[in-house]
Amino acid sequence: MLSVSGIPRGARYVIVVGVGVPVILVLLGLLCHLCGRVKEFSTAVAPRSAVVSGLDRVVIESYPKIVLGESKRLPKPDDSTCPICLSDYQPKEILKTIPQCNHCFHADCIGEWLRMNATCPVCQNSPPRS
Ligand SMILES: [Zn+2]
Ligand SMILES: [Zn+2]
Repeated sequence: MLSVSGIPRGARYVIVVGVGVPVILVLLGLLCHLCGRVKEFSTAVAPRSAVVSGLDRVVIESYPKIVLGESKRLPKPDDSTCPICLSDYQPKEILKTIPQCNHCFHADCIGEWLRMNATCPVCQNSPPRS
């Protein structure tokens, strides 16, 4: 009764499907698991070599820019030196402010800084990353 030839065609089909489908599903699951591991591995390794802990370029770009006029009118008049390169702001220079703390820097200086550090160089506040 347990021999293969004794099993009717329909039942054999059911056994093939009943055994084959779970095996395929398990194999697919394993494959997905492996793919997931590979993806995890690549995302864990890739950004470390590129960006350390700075902000996204898009976030930096979204900060308000100010072009200095001849009158050097600043958002904060007593704040006329870039805290990063320690030089005075010159007319026509492009400044950038961190909206969260309103600190002001050369656009180039703060751009470089925020790409490596996600904190304001003056008050150490961390602007949100998104
Ligand atoms: Zn500067
Ligand atoms: Zn600040």
